[in-house]
Amino acid sequence: MGLNVIMMGPPGAGKGTQAGRFARERGLLKISTGDILRAAIKADSPVGLRAKTLMHRGELVDDATMIDIVRERLLQPDAQPGFVLDGFPRTVVQAEALDRIVAERNNGPLVVVDVRVPEKELVRRLASRLICSKCGANAELPKAGEPAAARCARCGGELVQRVDDNEQVVLERLKVYERETKPLVEFYRDRPTFRIVNGAQGLERVAHELDTVIDDAALVGAKEAAAEAVKAVSPEKAARA
Ligand code: ADP
Ligand code: ZN
Repeated sequence: MGLNVIMMGPPGAGKGTQAGRFARERGLLKISTGDILRAAIKADSPVGLRAKTLMHRGELVDDATMIDIVRERLLQPDAQPGFVLDGFPRTVVQAEALDRIVAERNNGPLVVVDVRVPEKELVRRLASRLICSKCGANAELPKAGEPAAARCARCGGELVQRVDDNEQVVLERLKVYERETKPLVEFYRDRPTFRIVNGAQGLERVAHELDTVIDDAALVGAKEAAAEAVKAVSPEKAARA
């Protein structure tokens, strides 16, 4: 059975880094809608042209476009073992569409993790964040007393600031997050597979917490699915159980 994870949280919560690590370790497909859009912009594709201005202002790309992109990607064979979504869903409309896609795929529970970090810390992180222009990885933060790295630790690419990581756009992204994406917590909160993780800790601690809560939620989700299956096959048996 597959495992499907949504990594939720504000910009700068570290969900991209954690989503990448978790997906690699578990052999799942990581889908970052931000990365997909940035690649589309680089390629001057129709989606890229539409997304460019919006992204650079910190606004959201329209739901229909985003839902098409994710649906398309989730139908590819490499999504079979399951997926980790980073940056999607960002609106309730997107979340409802994702529920339908997951139901169609019918392959493992949907685990939702909300990575929480106080706003002050987010602004600090985003405004000082550098990413690799080649592979998109975040630059490692320098240790106390050491200079920041000049090149990407993974591929040697040049480190740059993302166009939407300047302070004015950061504040707009946080505003959009509060307005459009935070309501998703309400949407998911009552599900037995919803979990909260404290993102304001070191990478290792966050990673450990994530692994623990995702495994636990996946177990709960699988049990729930099994109970549903029994109900579907034999309503009487389910009533007795
Ligand atoms: P972060 O989470 O750090 O803000 P992302 O790389 O996830 O950044 O996204 C960057 C930008 O891409 C967003 O500010 C938005 O403009 C656009 N975007 C990404 N995912 C979505 C989505 N699911 N719906 C609408 N817009 C999106
Ligand atoms: Zn790199």
